[in-house]
Amino acid sequence: MLRMKRVPTVVSNYQKDEGEDSPLRPEGCGRNCLRDCCIQGAKLPLYSFKRVNKAVVVSGAESKPPIEFLDCLLLGEWEDRMQRGLFRYDVTACETKVIPGKCDFIAQLNEGRHLKKRPTEFRVDKVLQPFDDTKFNFTKVGQEEILFQLEVHEDGETCFFPSAPIDPENSPSIVAINVSPIEYGHVLLIPRILECLPQRIDPESLLLALDMAAEAGNPFFRLGYNSLGAFATVNHLHFQAYYLAIPFPVEKAPTQKIAALEGAVIVSELLEYPVRSLVFEGGKSVIELANKVSGACICLQENNISFNLLISDRGKRIFLFPQCYAEKQALGEVSPELLDTQVNPAVWEISGHMVLKRKADYEEASEEKAWRLLAEVSLSEERFQEVNALIFEAIGSGHKQANGMPNADPNGEPSEDPVRVNGSSCPAMLGRKSDCLVRQ
Ligand SMILES: [Zn+2]
Repeated sequence: MLRMKRVPTVVSNYQKDEGEDSPLRPEGCGRNCLRDCCIQGAKLPLYSFKRVNKAVVVSGAESKPPIEFLDCLLLGEWEDRMQRGLFRYDVTACETKVIPGKCDFIAQLNEGRHLKKRPTEFRVDKVLQPFDDTKFNFTKVGQEEILFQLEVHEDGETCFFPSAPIDPENSPSIVAINVSPIEYGHVLLIPRILECLPQRIDPESLLLALDMAAEAGNPFFRLGYNSLGAFATVNHLHFQAYYLAIPFPVEKAPTQKIAALEGAVIVSELLEYPVRSLVFEGGKSVIELANKVSGACICLQENNISFNLLISDRGKRIFLFPQCYAEKQALGEVSPELLDTQVNPAVWEISGHMVLKRKADYEEASEEKAWRLLAEVSLSEERFQEVNALIFEAIGSGHKQANGMPNADPNGEPSEDPVRVNGSSCPAMLGRKSDCLVRQ
């Protein structure tokens, strides 16, 4: 069994060291959480939107979309939590720079992210581990850390309700703050939170993440996923997301098409980048795209291969990085020089946004150093090709349909644009203070 000690990132103010958890008490646990003790009668904002289930147009072919409601809601609520002092540090005060070179790696000096925590032991050799309620999970966060409930449907109107009951029978998906943000608007998306799903990709949850990216409609808003063994620190299904107003280096790397799958999903390999990756895009619908990407992730999970995912370009381009850094680290195969930086190469670092903990590393950051670290994360060419063969065996036929996935439109016909939120269709929204919430 491979284990590794490291300082976990604190994502919630209720994330204590293991063993300090308070027991469930019928009168309420005092922290207004999402468990049985506190959920009775609780209300949270609810944003309910219609899936944009039309053909996924590959980047660059569309005009700039208008400012989207979800974007405004998320940032408005996030800033409200910042005013209330819920974050552990002020991320807007962290220094950031672009490292000179051809990749334009981005370095951030973030000294506050890993303070005041004991190292915890993580098992890094098992990508799938059962949910363990005795450990920290997102049902234990205080409701003030939750921004809103997020709901997607196939038809009907897009609506916002400032105060909607939480229905324990119909487990809501939740958007919550990450109290150790890497960037502006850093949040967590927790699919069907009350089902207490372990950190593992399933088609429905990945589709939700793609839907959220499409609905936010902002190319600077990306979602990411870390599997267990690839620097996820909480074994409760979650994606992360934040805004970065420049392209990630990985988004600028050239690609080479290697497969066209059934359903018009295109798979490419990343070129001239230190971490080998598959890039998924296109598709007759977002459901087709989600189906193929989740199929690939499920294949990796079943073969116990840890990985990271970046969802970029409003949900239209997904990077899948199988990785082996944590495993190498636990086996003592990573150089002391790289270990000393204590950089955990999770999805953001792999995508080229290097979060550095020491001032010296920040000041001396170079493309060569960033490249060297990321090259350690990557599978070897030989292993990468073996893993690709497994993936294409699982998804290449195009007939594999995972459980729980709604069927894509068999004709591949683009559907209508979603009904946009406006004052008349959604009276609950009237009177909201942010001026972009009520649109013409
Ligand atoms: Zn409680």
